[in-house]
Amino acid sequence: MIVVPLTVAQQRSRTSKAPELDPQIVAAVKEASPARVKATIEKLVSFYNRSTLSPADAAAIAKGRGVGAAREWVRSEFERYSKDCGGCLKVEMQSFTVNPPARRIPRPTEIVNVVATLGGADPGNAGRIYAVSGHYDSRNSDNDNVTDAAPGANDDASGTAVALECARVLSAHKFPATIVFIAFAGEEQGLYGSAHYAEAAKAANLDIGAVLNNDIVGGNRTPHDTRQEPQWVRVFSEGVPAAATPEQIKLIRATGMEDDSPSRQLARYIREVAPQYVPGFEPKPVSRPDRYLRGGDHLSFNEQGFAAVRLTEYREDYNHQHQTPRFEKGVEYGDQPKFVDFAYVANVARLNAATLASLASAPAPPANVRLLTKNLENDSTLTWSASPGGLATKYEVLWRPTTDSDWPPQNVEAVGNATQTTLPRSKDNVIFAVRAVDAKGHRSLAVVPLPER
Ligand SMILES: [Zn+2]
Repeated sequence: MIVVPLTVAQQRSRTSKAPELDPQIVAAVKEASPARVKATIEKLVSFYNRSTLSPADAAAIAKGRGVGAAREWVRSEFERYSKDCGGCLKVEMQSFTVNPPARRIPRPTEIVNVVATLGGADPGNAGRIYAVSGHYDSRNSDNDNVTDAAPGANDDASGTAVALECARVLSAHKFPATIVFIAFAGEEQGLYGSAHYAEAAKAANLDIGAVLNNDIVGGNRTPHDTRQEPQWVRVFSEGVPAAATPEQIKLIRATGMEDDSPSRQLARYIREVAPQYVPGFEPKPVSRPDRYLRGGDHLSFNEQGFAAVRLTEYREDYNHQHQTPRFEKGVEYGDQPKFVDFAYVANVARLNAATLASLASAPAPPANVRLLTKNLENDSTLTWSASPGGLATKYEVLWRPTTDSDWPPQNVEAVGNATQTTLPRSKDNVIFAVRAVDAKGHRSLAVVPLPER
């Protein structure tokens, strides 16, 4: 018998165990339900036209028509979940008025975000926030049309259903950090609701560690469309941060870090969570902020310097978004529930819930991560400050070739509860990152170092 010796990488991959599953996260993910998602989407569609410009007065709300009725219902859902957990969710309406002249807003319009907060259970970590969002407003073929149907089942009742379902399944549990569930409005006119939220968060100096924005996550059940991939969801993330200063962009260019923004680390984190908690459902990262020349609410957070990504189905059907329902030359137009794959939306909800729960269970990322560059040497020395909040029991250094996009699972060096390490590996050949790990194996987002002379 010939024994082939294992390479170092193979030995490491055999010895480094896959992270243990957290039974609380497994239980939460299991609760996400296609039937609940279906009920939410059908209810939102029942408001007929959820344009931010549609009537929101008491009469319209009483009739169950328009954006006002829709947001009252979203609020009542959050409140219902809160009742089931002894009032664990704080439910708020964040309201402001946009006055013309403003893009696609022809008259003074109140815009209302519906926000539910599951406060962190650990006072030392409750200031750290992870958010999931969708937009509950809809539109049809004409931005100004508030009288014809604008069902918006996929765009974006599906994303709203994901945010609601995450609130329902996660509010049954407690996490050290805070999780926020958001239904935005004003998206279709130009990201008004999310821009307001992100600007207020930045002004209040909120520590938002990640935003998962879900927009058009309905899958696709259009008859005869055989090219939908029901096991894939795209995850869009910015490379060079929108909020980077000219000096930061210069440094990114000088160190080849175009593929290492905080949003890109978040996309990689989702990639790592998926096989653990939603096996068979695969996030497909896309290395650009959004689809070609299109946008979504995550961009509002990127503009303010927060890590935020967009989840969207793999293959969109443009006959079924932003279209007034109708038949034309044998083609059916309209964003209707019959084209939505509820099992798919439930998988997207599971992926969101598992990611949020993992992040909110994990220690804060290490701060002030630095790569010492003073001496010319082939070893690499990294330093960092301890993860704030006291949950970390060890740190891990990751590395990957500069041309790879994922952190290879075997390229992990556990360094104990230290704030410095030297690895026999040249910083010129790889990209490094450091993450914090707690006693149960929950891992923080990875942080790439800044060079220190
Ligand atoms: Zn949308």
